[in-house]
Amino acid sequence: MMRPAVIPGEQHFILSSLSPSRAQKRLAVAVVLALLVAFLITDGTLSTIQLGRIDAFIPAYATAMLVNDSITAVLLFAQFSILRSRALLAIASGYLFTALIVIPWALTFPGIFRPDGLLGAGLQSTSWLYTLWHGGFAMFVIAYALLRDTDPARRLWRRSAAAGILSSVALTAAVVCAATFIVTAGDALLPRINLDRVHFSTLWLYIASCLALLSVVAVIVLWIGRRSVLDLWLMVVMSAYVIEICMIAFPVPARFSFGWYAGRVFGLLSGSLLLFVLLYEITILYAQVLRAVLAQRREREARLMTGDAVSASIAHEIKQPLSAMITNADAGLRWLDRTTPDLDEAKAAFKQIVHAGHRAGAVIDGIRAMFKKDARNRTSLDINELIREALALAGDELRKHRVSVQAEPDDQLPRVKGDRVQVQQVLLNLITNAIDSMAAKDGARVLRVRSEVDDGGSVIVSVADTGTGIGPQELERIFNPLFTTKSGGMGMGLSICRSIIEAHDGRLWVAPNKPEGAVFQFVLAADGAASAGASRREQLNELAPSSHL
Ligand code: ADP
Repeated sequence: MMRPAVIPGEQHFILSSLSPSRAQKRLAVAVVLALLVAFLITDGTLSTIQLGRIDAFIPAYATAMLVNDSITAVLLFAQFSILRSRALLAIASGYLFTALIVIPWALTFPGIFRPDGLLGAGLQSTSWLYTLWHGGFAMFVIAYALLRDTDPARRLWRRSAAAGILSSVALTAAVVCAATFIVTAGDALLPRINLDRVHFSTLWLYIASCLALLSVVAVIVLWIGRRSVLDLWLMVVMSAYVIEICMIAFPVPARFSFGWYAGRVFGLLSGSLLLFVLLYEITILYAQVLRAVLAQRREREARLMTGDAVSASIAHEIKQPLSAMITNADAGLRWLDRTTPDLDEAKAAFKQIVHAGHRAGAVIDGIRAMFKKDARNRTSLDINELIREALALAGDELRKHRVSVQAEPDDQLPRVKGDRVQVQQVLLNLITNAIDSMAAKDGARVLRVRSEVDDGGSVIVSVADTGTGIGPQELERIFNPLFTTKSGGMGMGLSICRSIIEAHDGRLWVAPNKPEGAVFQFVLAADGAASAGASRREQLNELAPSSHL
């Protein structure tokens, strides 16, 4: 039931390091199966039907591929600039490669722009460019998978991201230009794939088999090792590649046949697939990040508001009794300093001091009571979510003091009725105190935040640290208002926490942690359950023996 969790770091928000969810895996398998079914239905039966040449098809197809693959490349380069992984640079270059090579492929296509294609190409250039395109991309994917699994020292790009992107773009463009030059200028020397503008030689079958095999190898290499969302969808893309190649080359290859057109559609699909996934996932992640940022801002503002309100009212309300005490103490001293001390006047002054002291105490009690009054903001709360948020809010401090966090949320935890801001404030206070106490000493710094259900069905939250711990005398006093051992402390945190929890009909107590540190625990009744009755209070008092005030 308990599941350890880690605080999410930045990289957990990036697709190429995010693990795919079960739904994503299922969707990927469904896409591959759908492609396979479409292939089985089309290939063999319809694929040899000759449909004739549609002049607009190749330019439209090439443009779509160019746009799709360039956008995908840009998105992947952007991920590279965040993560600096060489593997990402390889796959981004792969997409740039396909975006660029599709240009000479379309230009040299015989009969589209000129009878024998542009760029002075002969009959063979287009098919050789197709071969380089598909073989090349599979190699980029394999390079991606291999780089992804290399040892961590070599996995990262050490120089600037801009240098990485610029050199990859330049290199990829140079490779495409060189490939185009070789296949167009050397067209007459190349082995013959095309018999004429429509029909292929048997060499094409061997080449297509090799391309399909290379794509299968890419799928296998991706499969081995750690798998991210990106890996999962690249596997689907490479499966679509295999199907596209089979569609175009088997059983009888011929341009403008049904199979040839269908193969292009598969090509377009496989080309767009990663783009769709990237756009979808980026939008979802953006929404999640936005929500987290807004929640964080809301909590921070609320925290500042309550903190400010508390300190302002303390300062304002306490000033008056304090100055009364000083004035009376001065007066008392003066009555005593006389050659014949006036004891009655001095007594009266001291009485005034006692009175002012009681007034100051009442002010503080009043501030604590502030948290009891307002029951309007009570909603149904997911305590695990609040814990996650509080840990995220304290993230900077936790990292700064190198505190490792063990979050142990109970997945079956019932919801609790309460004031979101106030309960959040309690959690934050306990976590901040724990960090303070661990920062004050060397040794292991472990913060464990756990949620669980007690026998009565109530929710217990414990915040345990490995800090200085609390001595037996302090155990009685730390919940008192204005008790603090910190130079800049106000000593109101725990007192307010206890007021808040008690206003929610719960209990807050502290116990020593084993082997060191302190465990603060609070209990709140589950939403829907009767609020903590007398019997449960007794039970809780047993749980928190000496520390209760
Ligand atoms: P402040 O943090 O301003 O001192 P608090 O009421 O939050 O006020 O805490 C009161 C005192 O309780 C602290 O000064 C500290 O001595 C003690 N304390 C609170 N939490 C812990 C903890 N986790 N470990 C050790 N001491 C603690």
